[in-house]
Amino acid sequence: MKNPVKAPVIVWFREDLRLADNRALEAAAAAKAPVVAIYVHDEISEGVRSLGGASRWWLHHSLAALDAGLAEKGVRLNILVGAAEDVVPRLARDIGATLVTWSRRYGLAEREIDARIKRALTADGITAESFNDHLLAEPWELETQSGGPFRVYSPFWRALTRAIDPPAPLPAPKHLAPFALPAKAKPVALDALGLLPRIPWDSGLAKMWSPGEIGAHARLKQFIAEGLAGYAEGRDRIDRTHTSRLSPHLRFGEISPRQIWHAIRASESAAPKATPTDRNKLLAELGWREFAYHLLYHNPELATRNFAPRFDAFPWQKNAKALRSWQTGKTGIPIVDAGLRELWHTGYMHNRVRMITASFLIKHLLIDWRDGEKWFWDTLVDADPANNAASWQWVAGSGADAAPYFRVFNPVLQAAKFDPDGHYIKRWVPELAALEPRHLFEPWAAPPMVLSAAGITLGKTYPMPIVSLDQGRERALAAYAALPKT
Ligand SMILES: Cc1cc2nc3c(=O)[nH]c(=O)nc-3n(C[C@H](O)[C@H](O)[C@H](O)COP(=O)(O)OP(=O)(O)OC[C@H]3O[C@@H](n4cnc5c(N)ncnc54)[C@H](O)[C@@H]3O)c2cc1C
Repeated sequence: MKNPVKAPVIVWFREDLRLADNRALEAAAAAKAPVVAIYVHDEISEGVRSLGGASRWWLHHSLAALDAGLAEKGVRLNILVGAAEDVVPRLARDIGATLVTWSRRYGLAEREIDARIKRALTADGITAESFNDHLLAEPWELETQSGGPFRVYSPFWRALTRAIDPPAPLPAPKHLAPFALPAKAKPVALDALGLLPRIPWDSGLAKMWSPGEIGAHARLKQFIAEGLAGYAEGRDRIDRTHTSRLSPHLRFGEISPRQIWHAIRASESAAPKATPTDRNKLLAELGWREFAYHLLYHNPELATRNFAPRFDAFPWQKNAKALRSWQTGKTGIPIVDAGLRELWHTGYMHNRVRMITASFLIKHLLIDWRDGEKWFWDTLVDADPANNAASWQWVAGSGADAAPYFRVFNPVLQAAKFDPDGHYIKRWVPELAALEPRHLFEPWAAPPMVLSAAGITLGKTYPMPIVSLDQGRERALAAYAALPKT
């Protein structure tokens, strides 16, 4: 007589699209039962923010990569569509699963959905187990000395580094036993999700990125070999490639912060020229990510509500034309336009340029930071519910530990400092490429002869600035000064 088929276990992938160092997957594999791997495409649950266009592109390729990785271990990824609260418990019941595992998410709506699913499964006698696979520490684990959440990064980071000793990353499971899903479970093909754009604007993304776990580790390896030495100083240089570009891989959980932490700590031979300062600086940037999740957990409306309520009185200007000029990289300020064009073509923008473009939108144009946050959400491949919202509020001055409101970035000085030869601007604003740097950063101030020799007619071949930098700055300072003090 044949052995009866053992009851299956379900591993539910969400923002942890990887095989290695995935505790939810490890727990499912450890059950020594057939494994059903699922991804639920849920665009209907209330409160769950739909992904932007660039993230949808990334997700498509990341799911394909995850499926290929799982196939090598013996199982396929089943893509299901619907409200997770209906889909997951129903599937678990239908196939007689004994265990469902997943990695935790930190948005309020997602946490509430997960809690309800856990209750429904438990009521059916099915074990539900959740794990931390996204962060170095759970956001609720750290408190200030007086109790309560942190509002300032430096003490948060000190407390985090004291509290944690990230365990060595887990290897991918060697083999997973498959289980045939009944037809009524209705898995769909990846293409059916329609994640790829109908009008193909994604060729720049495809050129630059390799979504998936293999791409993530290749990126980390390359960064350690080529970018880590000199990272502490070079990370602010827009014209160099000193930063890791791991952000979209982290966003979709193709690599874990634990894996990065250990790889950086153990990088003496792979990056002999990197200093302890370089290594610590990179880890401290991961710390900003942790801090953003700490803020999101304690302030679920981080993307929509001023952290500092006094900003509710801010006189934001509704200016659809200026917003459109900013979005399309036609403000007439070269470093700002370069950044927004890079974003549109690659789904990425260097951190320094994110700060410059955000400051310009919020301060020089007085446009609500939430409009900028939404644009980045739609266009960044690393659009992250915590990092994006926390960073926009930081630049606006409305956030926790925010940049002081009187800090208005001067885009001309920023470009001169961080793109001194103008390589970055010339790449993304080629119509200005014939200008030498001192004119390139502020073409409106260049003598007419210089402009005509470079083939530039302001207002025709390149826009005039949509706002005077001096007047914009004065107007921003006046608006900020008029806010209530507390
Ligand atoms: C207005 C604005 C919006 C932003 N939106 C996002 C976003 O949607 N998603 C996102 O991941 N980052 C965002 N950032 C933070 C930062 O710009 C990116 O994380 C960084 O540029 C990613 O490039 P990298 O991986 O090469 O960074 P690296 O310098 O190599 O840093 C390594 C990792 O640390 C984390 N990190 C670095 N800087 C920050 C930071 N300031 N805040 C939080 N985490 C950080 C990222 O996960 C990053 O991948 C935003 C910053 C600004 C100013």
